[in-house]
Amino acid sequence: MSKFIIVSNRLPIKIEKQQNQWIFSPTSGGLATGLKSVHENGKSLWIGWPGISSNEIDDKEYETLSKGLFEKKFKPISLSNEEIDDFYLGLSNKCIWPLFHYFKQHFQFDEQQWDAYVKVNQKFANAILEEIEEGDQVWVHDYQLLLVPEMIKSIRKDVTIGFFLHIPFPSFEIFRIFPKREELLKGMLGSDLIGFHTYDYKRHFLSSVRRILHLNVNFNLIQKGDREIVVNTFPMGIDYEKFEKTAYDHTKSEKESFSPLRIELEKHKELNQGKIILSIDRLDYTKGVINRVKSFELFLTQYPEYKEKVRMLMVLVPSRANVSHYKELKRETDEIIGRVNGNFATVNWTPIWYYYRSFDFDDLINLYRLSDVAMVTPLRDGMNLVAKEYLATRIQNDGVLILSELAGASKELHQSLIVNPFDITALSNTIHEALNMPLSEQVERNTELRERVKRYNIKFWSETFLKELDRISKRIPIHKTKRITPNTISKFEIQYALANKRLFLLDYDGTLVSFHKNHKKALPSPTVINLLKELNQDPKNKVIIISGRPPEFLDQIFKDLNLTMIAEHGHFEKEPQKEWIEKNASSSSWMNHIYPILQQFTDNTPGTFIEQKRNSLVWHFRKTDPELGVIKSQELKTVLSSMLSNDISLMEGDKIIEVTTSTTNKGIASYDHYAKEPYDFVLVAGDDVTDENMFTQLPDEVISIKVGNKKSVAKHSVVAPQELINLLNHFKK
Ligand code: UDP
Repeated sequence: MSKFIIVSNRLPIKIEKQQNQWIFSPTSGGLATGLKSVHENGKSLWIGWPGISSNEIDDKEYETLSKGLFEKKFKPISLSNEEIDDFYLGLSNKCIWPLFHYFKQHFQFDEQQWDAYVKVNQKFANAILEEIEEGDQVWVHDYQLLLVPEMIKSIRKDVTIGFFLHIPFPSFEIFRIFPKREELLKGMLGSDLIGFHTYDYKRHFLSSVRRILHLNVNFNLIQKGDREIVVNTFPMGIDYEKFEKTAYDHTKSEKESFSPLRIELEKHKELNQGKIILSIDRLDYTKGVINRVKSFELFLTQYPEYKEKVRMLMVLVPSRANVSHYKELKRETDEIIGRVNGNFATVNWTPIWYYYRSFDFDDLINLYRLSDVAMVTPLRDGMNLVAKEYLATRIQNDGVLILSELAGASKELHQSLIVNPFDITALSNTIHEALNMPLSEQVERNTELRERVKRYNIKFWSETFLKELDRISKRIPIHKTKRITPNTISKFEIQYALANKRLFLLDYDGTLVSFHKNHKKALPSPTVINLLKELNQDPKNKVIIISGRPPEFLDQIFKDLNLTMIAEHGHFEKEPQKEWIEKNASSSSWMNHIYPILQQFTDNTPGTFIEQKRNSLVWHFRKTDPELGVIKSQELKTVLSSMLSNDISLMEGDKIIEVTTSTTNKGIASYDHYAKEPYDFVLVAGDDVTDENMFTQLPDEVISIKVGNKKSVAKHSVVAPQELINLLNHFKK
């Protein structure tokens, strides 16, 4: 039976040692809750760091710890202090975290930390690979493990891999700053399914994939060689039932069971000491705490009548305290809160109640339930669960949520008061609006908001992701095109040696030579020319170059070789020592109509150009901005398809659109030659969609070779022109 492997930087458990015994207690974070039933009920394994550095315990102790964890279906990854410093606090939190949250000023890239990041990701991948069995599915989480998917996929193609990014994916202009941007993207693309919280993050990611890796993206599908990667949005939810139920229970609990915090808050209410604005976050520069305090300060200045009538209750949960920017932020926060309290406090009133610590679940409910307004105003936040938790506890549908437009949650929670967290004046005015919102309006807004949070809860999130992963795992075909191995080469050599009449049909661009930005400069090396010459000199052999290029171009390169040449996809042919002949000559008057349209597209798409051949017009968009190229080529296709008659057709090649007379194609042209003689060895190679016609038209016994990783009907594939050249070298005398 196949199993499900969950991978996250931290295991969702707290580990303590009590009287020489390891005690494990589950943590109740979103991920742990969302995957609880998959992990507990099914055959599964959760792999992650257990939270204890390997320097803290000796090998024997570690072994006992591992054993205990394995019994609970957890596999620990051991990390040393140094690895934690460089991989976790370093690259993950001083580099990826600030950059992905648009804090370029805090972004520090360090090669040594990058090396540690690669090493630790490999450590995770190795630990996963040790456990993988056929048919398993893997779900990797978050920014600490961006390289893991490809590290698994490169070894185990058969395994379906999901990846979810819990933080924002920044716009291309920000992401491109990262020195190892290609590595990060390639690492993620080892996955079969990639999930983000919002459409914007997905959009930014796809844009980087297009611009940096130059891969083709079609809606939400990325084409990477013969693989298709699905990218989608899955906004994360919360355990709604748990929050709502605890809030209900609290309304019925006895006074004796009240926590000290609840006693304080209830007293505040009873004595009518004013409304409470709740602010609750990890202490992180992304959370916008300073701006929030500043806006409250401005509010108290602008609306002095609220003095002694409102209070901000600020909870800051200590976080990453060893990272310098967090230390600085702590000092800055202490200072500004001190300033506001110092300036505005009276004998009976302090405007900001400030806690620098975390609260347990019960007190969290007290805080949410007993506050009148929740101010969730991060400067950037992947999702923000606090906003959703606040709503879940508002069982009377009262209360006001002020929410930053830069939190992922704002894309779902439209009925909250959405604000720009950088606009202090607007924040201050929104506080005023929140404090004065009539109850009926609160109820109206919250009823809708709470319905959404209830429906799209954490269970919904994990189930939809897993369902999609499952669907993909069933769909992924093991592609029938097989990579050429030394074994296949030996077989070809035997076939070749036994054959009396041999035919080679070789495409030019992307097959014999690699693509060049300037297509006039894509030329074969003297070694390739010699190889073709030698092959063609064998009286048993016939070598045909079959290309989309015009006759003049092929002449210029191959004229001394005595080869057969087919130009413009079959419109022109030249046998050795003979002249070019035009096949199926047709009128080219259609070009007068199509050319101006291509010209118009060329004029407003910088970097594109038109190539005019005798029977076709080609619009090249390789050199333009990749995203613009895709958009414009789609537009052009739509315009052209409404204009074409039966004998004119539209072909799509690699970053080209070709309009041509449809009387011939490479398939027809190659078959004509194949049928002329009784060949007993035929090798056909090509890289482009136009070459697929050859693979389909020629019979099954032919050796068909696709150059590159794109999907193909060819039987074999090589990765690049050089590999094809190496193969052809085996046939030299
Ligand atoms: N939280 C907590 N105790 C506290 C304060 C917060 O357990 O004293 C929890 C809160 O319930 C929420 C999480 O911390 O689930 C914060 O998640 P969020 O997405 O808002 O921000 P993150 O910290 O992940 O950036």
